[in-house]
Amino acid sequence: MSRRKQIYEGKAKILYEGPEPGTLVQYFKDDATAFNAQKKATLDGKGALNNRISEYMMMRLGEIGIPTHFIKRLNMREQLIKKAEIIPLEVICRNVAAGTMSKRLGIDEGEKLPRSIVEFCLKRDDLGDPLIAEEHIHAFGWASQAELDEMIGMTLRINDFMQGLFSGVGIRLVDFKIEFGRVPLAEGHQIILADEISPDSCRLWDRDTDKKLDKDRFRRDLGEVTEAYQEVAMRLGILKPNPSNPPTLSVVSSDD
Ligand code: 5GP
Repeated sequence: MSRRKQIYEGKAKILYEGPEPGTLVQYFKDDATAFNAQKKATLDGKGALNNRISEYMMMRLGEIGIPTHFIKRLNMREQLIKKAEIIPLEVICRNVAAGTMSKRLGIDEGEKLPRSIVEFCLKRDDLGDPLIAEEHIHAFGWASQAELDEMIGMTLRINDFMQGLFSGVGIRLVDFKIEFGRVPLAEGHQIILADEISPDSCRLWDRDTDKKLDKDRFRRDLGEVTEAYQEVAMRLGILKPNPSNPPTLSVVSSDD
């Protein structure tokens, strides 16, 4: 791993040069950060869980025709991905009020929104990823109108699909954040889903108890963070329930 050329290190992931041109290796760290990295911790096993969960989500989304960066999982912590030029936007989709939307608009957490809402934030850690309007995206040239339309369309399809998927395992998809990238084609380029989809980037609440099964457990000091991620993985059928306590990462279909 360390012999490869590192391309980028983020808060939760490292990107290395891939084995073929146009590929990268995405390594999932155990590090957790919140509030623009003011709060930090290492959570044993989080990286492996997010690698598995993101693999699963990207594969399922690929099956319904969403183009993604995912090529294959390499091992417990790494996946091979397509190299993409990341569009500097965080695309957030919300079904239920929570987090910054609740704070900003004074809507109680847990209130169902009249319809799914797509928001954009500028990917700028130094500015705290500020909420922006489509106007800013056009004016500053971060994405074209056609790209924006495509990203919004894909986000809503991803939301519909993931709401159904999680609902089937007793989980409410409150909101999520995704990122997109551009990959070159013979002519022009294609917009693909990039980054990750995991409990680090989604709010996932148990349908019956509203128990948080996502990164808010870390942000809000609720404890049992990796246990909650394991619960998500087990409900999705990615991990086998294990008689040992705490459950271990025994994988349902493994090529590790
Ligand atoms: P909020 O704006 O309420 O803090 O977040 C909305 C949704 O986007 C939540 O599911 C949250 O986890 C996700 N999100 C927002 N910003 C980030 C970010 O910088 N990193 C990650 N991993 N997720 C984010």
